[in-house]
Amino acid sequence: MNTVTHLIAGRPWAGTAERTGEVFNPATGAVTAHVDLASADLVGEVVTTARQAWSGWADASLAKRTQVLFAFRELLNAHKDEIAALITAEHGKVLDDARGEVMRGLEVAEFACGIPHLLKGGFTENASTNVDVYSIRQPLGVVAVIAPFNFPAMVPLWFVPIAIACGNAVVLKPSEKDPSAAVAVARLWTEAGLPDGVMNVVHGDKEAVDALLTHPDVKAVSFVGSTPIAKYVYETGTAHGKRVQALGGAKNHMLVLPDADLDLAADAAINAGFGSAGERCMAISALVVVDGVADDLVKRIQDRMGRLRTGDGTRGCDMGPLVTGAHRDKVASYLDAGVAEGATLVVDGRDGEFDGDGAGFWLGPTLFDHVTPAMSVYRDEIFGPVLSVMRVRSYDEGLNLINANPYGNGTAIFTNDGGAARRFQREVEVGMVGVNVPIPVPVSYYSFGGWKNSLFGDSHAHGTEGVHFFTRGKVVTSRWLDPSHGGLNLGFPRNT
Ligand code: NAD
Repeated sequence: MNTVTHLIAGRPWAGTAERTGEVFNPATGAVTAHVDLASADLVGEVVTTARQAWSGWADASLAKRTQVLFAFRELLNAHKDEIAALITAEHGKVLDDARGEVMRGLEVAEFACGIPHLLKGGFTENASTNVDVYSIRQPLGVVAVIAPFNFPAMVPLWFVPIAIACGNAVVLKPSEKDPSAAVAVARLWTEAGLPDGVMNVVHGDKEAVDALLTHPDVKAVSFVGSTPIAKYVYETGTAHGKRVQALGGAKNHMLVLPDADLDLAADAAINAGFGSAGERCMAISALVVVDGVADDLVKRIQDRMGRLRTGDGTRGCDMGPLVTGAHRDKVASYLDAGVAEGATLVVDGRDGEFDGDGAGFWLGPTLFDHVTPAMSVYRDEIFGPVLSVMRVRSYDEGLNLINANPYGNGTAIFTNDGGAARRFQREVEVGMVGVNVPIPVPVSYYSFGGWKNSLFGDSHAHGTEGVHFFTRGKVVTSRWLDPSHGGLNLGFPRNT
């Protein structure tokens, strides 16, 4: 049995853990590894290691940092297939999807390669007579990144390359459900020439998270996970004086207007609803259809669902299993709840064949129709392959439904009417909007983040907001003295 352990200053931890967790292969149901769960004391030691490494790295020139970033980018590209295989083995998503995840993370490393340009400050000559003013951005120190299970490589990569490029040291805590990909990526930093201790990985659960949130040497926390934990992380971290960005859960709507191309809309609903078995924070779970075309669209989606293959992610299937048995059972319980609450179960994901060996955590694509806002299948973030069709009479009714939802991560409109699309992007209260694009994940040089209960804090992930989050500003007012500047004057400085 494998043991997945912490990576501290570039080396695997040599101690013996008091507590461990089980890691499964979701396609077989078998336990494939145990993961060490860090104690609060161990987290403290890792933060100290990172703090000691930080001062040297903060002083490393931008030329040196850029060399490391370019080398890391090349190594990540060279190792993308083995990292994707680790993701599939522990998360369950199909290999092609896992490769896509690594490539989207790699794009953030590419963005971070431009750090000399991104850290350029401002300069004003002669703001007052013979006085120059300039702004610079400096690193924070040790920063913590706490990641969810659903993107074990990409989510850490949203933050780590930018944090390092900005001159910080990092302690990453991956999800204990699928910890191996994060370790494999972290090893590449050492190979890329990053000094030991600047990048560290600790595995763990609430004990490790709480230790990071309260440690005085952790200056900032980037968290991604479910809304209740995101809120807790934000409140606890800020109460301990840290800068926190905490990205939470989601309920993403796709609004289909009657003039949309229904074949394209059906394809998009399937891809965005069932990709990664619905375990994406940008998955579409509510399909809001203006009623005149709803029957037609539901039929087209149902036809396509019959062609999807669910099975082991290494076998060329469309969709893999859910991450754990407990999560599979929780998602399946919503199928009974939806029926009990009056929704029409058009396709039942419990039926059908699954292409896998052993006792995998299977649930096939599921479609509900006639879902209403009061039903739990709509209210809750199910985080599984369950797509709910909700019928509305007009654009306005659809918009109001979306804006009344407490989450605001992603949304999409499908229409051929440019005016309606433009109204939607102005009026919808959601952080990331797609126009005929069902999963509008921003490219790395824009920033990723939702509104309302989907993000606590002020900064979104990556892009220039990421650079801002991982640095703090300083403004210097400078005058090179000559004898004419002498004399006493206790008044407030005026610009002359
Ligand atoms: P989770 O909230 O259970 O776990 C996230 C992290 O928090 C993990 O590292 C976990 O170890 C830690 N954690 C769990 N319980 C904790 C507790 N009580 N105290 C302190 N730390 C705790 O989330 P998950 O199930 O791993 O991931 C799925 C969730 O993440 C979904 O809600 C999804 O929408 C969300 N997500 C959001 C985004 C986004 O960008 N908004 C992206 C990906 C995933």
